[in-house]
Amino acid sequence: MPELPEVESIRRKLNQILSNRQIKNIEVRRDKSFLAFPTASAEILNNKVVEVKRRAKILQIVLSGQRDLLVHLKMTGQLIFVDKDGQRAGGGHPSADWINELPGKHTRVIFEFKDGSRLFFNDMRVFGWIRSPLKKDVDQEFVNYGPDIDDPNLTVDYLLNAAKRRQIPIKQFIMDNAVICGVGNIYASESLFVTGINPTKSAKEISKKEMTVLLEAMQKIIAHSTQLGGTTFDGKYVGVDGFAGGFQKELKVYGRDEQSCFKCGTLISKIKQGGRGTFFCSTCQKN
Ligand SMILES: [Zn+2]
Repeated sequence: MPELPEVESIRRKLNQILSNRQIKNIEVRRDKSFLAFPTASAEILNNKVVEVKRRAKILQIVLSGQRDLLVHLKMTGQLIFVDKDGQRAGGGHPSADWINELPGKHTRVIFEFKDGSRLFFNDMRVFGWIRSPLKKDVDQEFVNYGPDIDDPNLTVDYLLNAAKRRQIPIKQFIMDNAVICGVGNIYASESLFVTGINPTKSAKEISKKEMTVLLEAMQKIIAHSTQLGGTTFDGKYVGVDGFAGGFQKELKVYGRDEQSCFKCGTLISKIKQGGRGTFFCSTCQKN
C-alpha cells in the first residue's frame, strides 16, 4: 500500500501534468470504483483541472465547477496518465499494467481530456475509489481524520492531549488516522528507532520531551522520504515515472529483522502490533 510520501509524490507529479486539462468524457467500467458517478457526471464534464491537492492519503483533484474529485488508491490502485503521443506518467501499485496496453483488464475508470490525453484509474483488487462530492462537502469527507503529519499546525501538546486518553502502544497511536494522518507502518518503526522509544510503550506514558523528539523525527523522516520519491518495499510501489522511490536504502529497522542494528549491533527484533509488523532494536529502544 502506498504511504503518504508515495501519495504526495504522485500528487506533485499529477499537479504538474493535469492542471488546466479539460475533461471531455468519463468512462466508468466498474461502478464500485467511482461511487455515485451518474449523479455527478453532468456537473463534472467540461470542467478543467485547477490543481491536485492531498489530505491524508486521498488525492483531491480540484475542478473548475461545483464538484471536486477524490481518489483513494488503497492497496492496488494506479493512476496512469497517457498524453496524446502515448507518453506515460503516473503512480501507485506497480504491475504489468504500467507497460501493457491501456485500457487493460484492471482499468476501472478512464478520464478523457479535450487535448486527447487520458487518465486511467486501474485497480486490480477494487478497494480503491473515486468520489466527486460537492466542494462544500469535501471537508466532511475528512471529518474523522486527525491533522496530517506535515500540517504546520500540528503540535506536541495536541499529541500529548490525544495520548492521555489512549490505552494503546505508542506505535499504534501514531499510526491511528483519527490522531494523525500519514504515519504508515514503515515510518512509525523508523521514527521510534531514531528517538529510542520502545514501540510497545503505552502512548499515555510518553513524556513531553519524548513526544517532541518523536514529532520532529516523524516529520523529518517523512519529508525526506517524500523528497526521495517514497519507499519501495516488496514491489508494492513504483514512482510516478515508473521508477522506484529511493527511501528503501535509508531504512534503519524496517524489514531488517535478524540483522544487526546500525547503532549497537544487536539483532533487530520483529513483533506484531495490531496485525502489523513492528521492527525495533531492544537495546537502543529499551524505554
Ligand atoms: Zn541498537
